[in-house]
Amino acid sequence: MSSISYGGQSYLRKEQESVLDCMTAHGVTIPSSCHAGLCQTCLMQATQGKVPASAQVGLKPTIAAQNYFLACACYPEEDIEIRLPRMGVEKYSATVVEINPLNADIVCLELSLGTKLKYKAGQFINLHKDTATARSYSLASVPEIDEHLHLHIRKHPAGQVSHWIHQTLKVGDNVDISDANGSCFYTADNPDQNLLLIGTGSGLAPLYGIIRDALSQGHRGAIKLFHGSRSAESLYMSSELRSLALKHANFFYTPCISGESVPDDLVSGRAHDVALRENPDLSNWRVYLCGHPEMVATGKKLAFFAGASMRDIYADPFKSMAMDREIAS
Ligand SMILES: Cc1cc2nc3c(=O)[nH]c(=O)nc-3n(C[C@H](O)[C@H](O)[C@H](O)COP(=O)(O)OP(=O)(O)OC[C@H]3O[C@@H](n4cnc5c(N)ncnc54)[C@H](O)[C@@H]3O)c2cc1C
Repeated sequence: MSSISYGGQSYLRKEQESVLDCMTAHGVTIPSSCHAGLCQTCLMQATQGKVPASAQVGLKPTIAAQNYFLACACYPEEDIEIRLPRMGVEKYSATVVEINPLNADIVCLELSLGTKLKYKAGQFINLHKDTATARSYSLASVPEIDEHLHLHIRKHPAGQVSHWIHQTLKVGDNVDISDANGSCFYTADNPDQNLLLIGTGSGLAPLYGIIRDALSQGHRGAIKLFHGSRSAESLYMSSELRSLALKHANFFYTPCISGESVPDDLVSGRAHDVALRENPDLSNWRVYLCGHPEMVATGKKLAFFAGASMRDIYADPFKSMAMDREIAS
């Protein structure tokens, strides 16, 4: 057991508990979202004691050097004193300019910012419902093309933030968002490399941004998108993607349906299975996987076994807190 000092109180931490678990178990609310060391909502700073390097993965070196760490990924080996960040993650006030349905469960939320947010298409921001509740959402917009930030948000039954966005948030409201983060974006260092993009549901959001970014930067290799959905009705942005494919000879769009009834112009099967069946040799390809965590984990393995190098595989599992609970139980 080690102890954590926070706000003038001392808390005993059990060995298998992260700092976040320990604080939550003692009834202390720390803002958090993914519980997987990805979203950076639970950023804290150690004012005494050492935090392990594994609690700083993904932080900018300048932030890590100031002993900032992710509470959900922190298992300290010694006693530490911690506080909530005074700086580090910048927050911006954004105004809702549009909320448009993309299908029965997903809306496109458009946000405008007074100041310009520095981001790359495919990265994610944290959207704050209130001071303690935030969730990560990927950016489907491209800064050089789109005036506003575009987020594709799927409604989860009784989901705290997505439900609030679908039911309560309206045009003209202000919301706080954080700086953009994540490494799932396009880089123009190898314009002839083939790109394979696999997404399920609202996992299309980052991929839609990445594809348009790559095309606008003159990517020459093949860009193949496999978007998976349970039914034809829940696919979305199909017409935009089909017209993009007509405009660009190197862009290919394959909508995949995992459910029973599959119209003739769609492909039957799960997106990652279809993608790997049609592209069995991925040596020297770059692969992007976004959406359901199980699909992302399986897709990653399959892409690696098909020859893609791990450093060429970019993945954003849309992990939620409830999934952590399911995994833990
Ligand atoms: C890097 C990243 C990028 C992401 N990008 C996107 C994106 O572009 N679009 C998108 O739609 N999502 C995205 N997500 C997922 C998103 O962050 C949220 O996890 C999602 O919107 C659900 O949040 P919520 O507050 O609505 O639901 P939560 O309140 O977190 O609950 C999630 C689900 O679990 C259920 N639940 C809640 N508590 C329990 C419990 N105790 N036991 C069992 N079930 C429970 C709820 O009913 C709900 O269905 C991303 C996640 C990450 C990590």
